[in-house]
Amino acid sequence: MSDIAYTLERPAAPYDVERIRADFPILSRTVHERTGKKPQPGKPLVYLDSGASAQKPRHVIDTMTRFLEEDYSNIHRGVHFLSQRATDRFEAARDSVAAFLNAPSRDGIVFTRSATEAINLVAHSYARTFLEPGDEIIVSVMEHHANIVPWQLAQTARGLAIKVVPVDDRGVLDLDAYAKLFGPRTKMVAITHCSNVLGTVTPAKEIVRIAHQHGVPVLLDGSQAVVHGTVDVKDIGADFYVFTGHKLYGPTGIGVLCAKPELLKTMPPYQGGGDMIQSVSFSGTTFKEAPARFEAGTPPITEAIGLAAAIDYVEGIGRDAIAAHEHDLLTYATARLQEIEGLRIVGTAPGKAAIISFVVDGVHPHDLGTVVDQYGVAVRVGQHCAEPLMDRMGVGSTARASFALYNTRAEADALVDAVKAVKEFFGA
Ligand SMILES: *Cc1c(COP(=O)(O)O)cnc(C)c1O
Repeated sequence: MSDIAYTLERPAAPYDVERIRADFPILSRTVHERTGKKPQPGKPLVYLDSGASAQKPRHVIDTMTRFLEEDYSNIHRGVHFLSQRATDRFEAARDSVAAFLNAPSRDGIVFTRSATEAINLVAHSYARTFLEPGDEIIVSVMEHHANIVPWQLAQTARGLAIKVVPVDDRGVLDLDAYAKLFGPRTKMVAITHCSNVLGTVTPAKEIVRIAHQHGVPVLLDGSQAVVHGTVDVKDIGADFYVFTGHKLYGPTGIGVLCAKPELLKTMPPYQGGGDMIQSVSFSGTTFKEAPARFEAGTPPITEAIGLAAAIDYVEGIGRDAIAAHEHDLLTYATARLQEIEGLRIVGTAPGKAAIISFVVDGVHPHDLGTVVDQYGVAVRVGQHCAEPLMDRMGVGSTARASFALYNTRAEADALVDAVKAVKEFFGA
């Protein structure tokens, strides 16, 4: 089999959302069809939950299938044909990720199982190793639980303190308050690059610049940022940058930690096992250099290759083109939702990404989500793994519509129509 089958070719063209939609098999399905006594045709799927997990293009599905059918084997330890081939593909995926992020070095790219695992890796190998009791970690109130709880566990284990950057009523990070949080005991910053609830994009470069003035390393949670815009880690200067594959149109089970190699070099292993050691004996074990040192056990091989295919796909369309398309959807959907009386959008930061959280007077978000689902509209409701932010914004929960490269204005209309129907249903 030739390698050509794995490469995607997409000529530059004006943004053709229908053609893009055709790349995603699941988008042509319907939901809620009923057979039997009261048959009902299915409703077209309006998928506005990509912020929780994005759908997969055929290129990703096919690449993973073909890899499993043609080239699959365990990696790194084998001398045989397939093992070498699978190793080459896995390492090529590392190169893809490094290029995608404009990482300082491919040796700083660690494959993990998720963004969550990547953050836990840093909280263990960096924070728990180098921070002393009384040292402080700065996070923001806007973090996903994945960027709060690992630091809290480190806090408990090492007697650390956590300081929290506030946001204003629009959901804009308070940069002045952030700068004032630094003191002699500040040793780590961990902040999101884009809020999964509000869509707020934070001033990453400025966050890093201020921290570095104090000699403090920064972890940025890019789980949403890499989906909605171009990220240049070298330009931002982040010490650690993490994201997760499944929100970037790739598979589940794969995440990325992009770290400065000189920092990784100083960090002890996170997990122990095969593939991360140089030699093992009961008188002492030695470890490989990073990134292998942080990839204990058989890694998610097929998933890493699937992630590289997703990056291929996204780059094929063009990240600027995707951002422009999503910006149009955000502007359009925001205006249309604002037509609805009693609807309030939570998170109105300038330059935000295409994520719209909202509440409707007299309707619980959970009921709203359940009813719009009957119209085929999939939105997320609840706290979105960001309970402290919910408290700050003064809401118990919200409904969240998150837009992706395959969504359309007609789908924003479908959301608006469904919300109007909900209001009628509840007499709100
Ligand atoms: C989804 C998400 C995470 C966690 O990703 P996992 O794949 O669940 O590990 C972390 N941060 C943000 C901002 C997210 O949106």
